[in-house]
Amino acid sequence: MSLNCDIVMDLVALYHDGEASKTSEAAVKEHLKGCKSCREFYRQYGVATPASQSFNFMSNGNYSELAKHMRVRRLWTVVAVLGYVSASLCALIMLLMRIREE
Ligand SMILES: [Zn+2]
Repeated sequence: MSLNCDIVMDLVALYHDGEASKTSEAAVKEHLKGCKSCREFYRQYGVATPASQSFNFMSNGNYSELAKHMRVRRLWTVVAVLGYVSASLCALIMLLMRIREE
């Protein structure tokens, strides 16, 4: 499935925040691989986002939108940390078992 550049640029925001669906994510990833200008856009987006996005929410006076965004962000952080911790634990346990076997 290939997307055109306009659609990809719309999806990049969701993709960047990890909020895109699996299908969109795969399609964006695929497109970024083959499209230099979108790759550049994505790179710039990643750099520019944190400040400019919250500024946009603020200037619209859209606090609930910002709060929602922060909540989603926090949720993803928790998920990422939990994933990281359990992965490390698994690796540690496997290592210990291997040492014990020898
Ligand atoms: Zn493109």
